[in-house]
Amino acid sequence: MRLPLKDRISNTGELKAWKGEIPFRYEYTAGIAGERFLGGLRRGKILAAECGNCRSRYVPPKVYCVKCYLPMKDYVEVGPRATVSALAESYVDFGGRRRSEPRVYAFMTFEGVNGGLVHLAGGKGLEVGSRVVPKFAPASRRKGSLLDIELFVRG
Ligand SMILES: [Zn+2]
Repeated sequence: MRLPLKDRISNTGELKAWKGEIPFRYEYTAGIAGERFLGGLRRGKILAAECGNCRSRYVPPKVYCVKCYLPMKDYVEVGPRATVSALAESYVDFGGRRRSEPRVYAFMTFEGVNGGLVHLAGGKGLEVGSRVVPKFAPASRRKGSLLDIELFVRG
């Protein structure tokens, strides 16, 4: 049944349904800056976009400078040292089960860089202000994903 735009369904008993599958396949890109960033992670590097005008740096990279509104095309490696700027401990896993030891999720920032990364962090006594470094997965297992960094550890 095809309804003109102005018609409304007034009797749901007349609706019909059928089961089946439509073979959709989705593929999203990370965008220009995201592709550069993820490619950097695959090579064991954290890349920031740098504005050619004001030299502001952004992690994760952006394609336009927030301050100048100019396109950014330069990428520079930052870190690996970072600072824990915020953190939270989770005693519950994604399935709702209680953990015996907490997982620590932190927001890491890099000196002279706008933004930062949220990721797992490990080590006893981590607190805001702790210095950390990324622990990358072995190169053979990296996929160009944020998970190419296994976690951040004291360093
Ligand atoms: Zn700028």
